[in-house]
Amino acid sequence: MPSDITVNGRTYHWMKRPLVVVCIDGCQYEYLTAAVAAGAAPFLGRLLAGAGTSLIADCVMPSFTNPNNLSIVTGVPPAVHGICGNYFFDPERGEEVMMNDPRFLRVETILAAFSKAGAKVAVITAKDKLRKLLGHQMRGICFSSEKADQVTMAENGIENVLGLVGMPVPSVYSAALSEFVFVAGVKLMQRERPDLTYLSTTDYIQHKAAPGTPAANEFYAMIDRNLAQLDALGARIVVTADHGMNAKHGADGQPNVIYLQDTLDAWLGKGKARVILPITDPYVVHHGALGSFALAYLPADADQRAIAEQIAALPGIERVLTRAEAAAQFELPADRIGDLVVVSRLDTVIGTRREQHDLSGLDVPLRSHGGTSEQKVPLLVNGRLPQQPANRRWRNFDAFDLGLNLT
Ligand SMILES: [Zn+2]
Repeated sequence: MPSDITVNGRTYHWMKRPLVVVCIDGCQYEYLTAAVAAGAAPFLGRLLAGAGTSLIADCVMPSFTNPNNLSIVTGVPPAVHGICGNYFFDPERGEEVMMNDPRFLRVETILAAFSKAGAKVAVITAKDKLRKLLGHQMRGICFSSEKADQVTMAENGIENVLGLVGMPVPSVYSAALSEFVFVAGVKLMQRERPDLTYLSTTDYIQHKAAPGTPAANEFYAMIDRNLAQLDALGARIVVTADHGMNAKHGADGQPNVIYLQDTLDAWLGKGKARVILPITDPYVVHHGALGSFALAYLPADADQRAIAEQIAALPGIERVLTRAEAAAQFELPADRIGDLVVVSRLDTVIGTRREQHDLSGLDVPLRSHGGTSEQKVPLLVNGRLPQQPANRRWRNFDAFDLGLNLT
């Protein structure tokens, strides 16, 4: 058995049995407890009842998908790995740049390090946007359900995924996109028995359905069935989430939105400041690119402190931090965030200009994430932990540490 592996300052034991780390996108803790209470998730119920370990952890800020998936697979916050959103503004080039290219990743992943040391590693994501980042420099199997019909041995380390899984390629806006990830994970465990598996779903259901609703319970029942199969196959399982999810609308069903670019245009002149929403991605139908986190780049002569206070006074804003404050408090890379970092309260989201948000795709009242309100996430293990310091602040990026070192 190879020796321990050190990645990004943390040392991990070689796996004694297969490890599966699962990132359930948008898994507010209440989805689990509600599904368990409804009798829809007996396996998770046993973990929560003490047969396993159930902790509540903090995800990284912003509470978005990519920064957190990258934190989980690197074991470090965005200040170290560099991925702090889907988008950032490159001041040198004067343009918004998508951050889904591995060249923006500043460190090695745990997956890549283990694969290079000889472990058999498999990564399955729902959306293809994460695949290249998660699979960076990794040898092994890496594919998305979104493009499961296009896999090749050269690019993905596997062929005929559709035949393996026995499902057609799901719609990118569907619960089946995540189900495909789980079913593929189980089939791979049966056929290849990877030493290390990382499964990452999509939050389509969580954006639409609150905890305890029939659609949510049905989704968690599907997850529960597949986790129980992985458990029966002898895998160590760690379940966590990239972020939580909350309702962001008023009693009338309309989203509570602060259009921050419109506001700054009114204060400073049109286009003088630039608001960046790092939630923006090519798949915006279910959230209209509205989340509880925004970056503001201000003109050089602006009084940053005064503008920060003005923004903080807007109803629905939770806090406004300067670049240095946000880099320290939220462990963010200072060179990839704005002059100001703006976080809205639980029920409020931040937009750019009103006319830039197409809300026609919102067929149900808005649920979204991005703020500190969505920072609490589950961290579950199908095994008991030795005694831990009571004051330890658990993070979702402790998942591999839990799975390899503590159980
Ligand atoms: Zn997410």
